[in-house]
Amino acid sequence: MKPAEMPAMKVRIPGCFLLGTLFCAAQTESPQQAQFRACRANLKSLAQALEFYAADNPGQPGPPLAKLAPGYLKKMPTCPAANSDTYSQVEWSGEKFTLCCRGNHHAALNVAPDHPAYAFPAGEVSGLPPTPAEKILARHQQVLDQKRAIADRIAAEQNESSQLLEAYRKTKSKNLPPEALIELVNQGVLTTPPEKFPALTTPAMTPEERQILESEKSPEGISYLKVVEEIDRRFPDSEFVAYCQSNQFMLRRNRWLRGKIGKL
Ligand SMILES: [Zn+2]
Repeated sequence: MKPAEMPAMKVRIPGCFLLGTLFCAAQTESPQQAQFRACRANLKSLAQALEFYAADNPGQPGPPLAKLAPGYLKKMPTCPAANSDTYSQVEWSGEKFTLCCRGNHHAALNVAPDHPAYAFPAGEVSGLPPTPAEKILARHQQVLDQKRAIADRIAAEQNESSQLLEAYRKTKSKNLPPEALIELVNQGVLTTPPEKFPALTTPAMTPEERQILESEKSPEGISYLKVVEEIDRRFPDSEFVAYCQSNQFMLRRNRWLRGKIGKL
């Protein structure tokens, strides 16, 4: 990831819709939140400086952070909550690195120890407990991931399908006419029960959830409602079911063939 593509700072409006406008109008950032925000910003500048350093020194091992200032940074930042250096233990693995605010300095905000963190190239991990919108997003993402995992498995079976048929042909006889082979296989498939898939349906969205999603923005600054709607669009339930059904015969045939050639 190039520095310019780093995700923008996350905007949060916690609990506004629940507590009403009175609270919202009065809500300001607490000192702990300001410290956390500053710490995340520090990590981002450090990560950016490390990336620039690495680009200027290709093939070299990752530098100790102290080498970054002056040059890549005006001075070494420190976490305002810790008031000391919590960043210098960078973990390198080849050209990848992880840096974090080492310790438990943001516990007041329920931030996990050794967070915030920045992994290159994966990006930022806030360590904050998930917000209501993030929890809803996670449920939708999980269903999409499960659908994709099944689709990947079916794709792998599609690739294997002709090899299994060929292997079965060899166990029978190479001289078996193609029509006779197909007849044999089709009869076998009839005795094989259909593949059962988990019922994966996109979670329904209640009006309350919709409101929660609208009220929060993703790290990219997009309303979470848009993010979730986009996820739901990627593999609609009807497409998923149709994909599984259209491959049902192939899956049954593969299973039967595996049994016949002793691959079960
Ligand atoms: Zn910190």
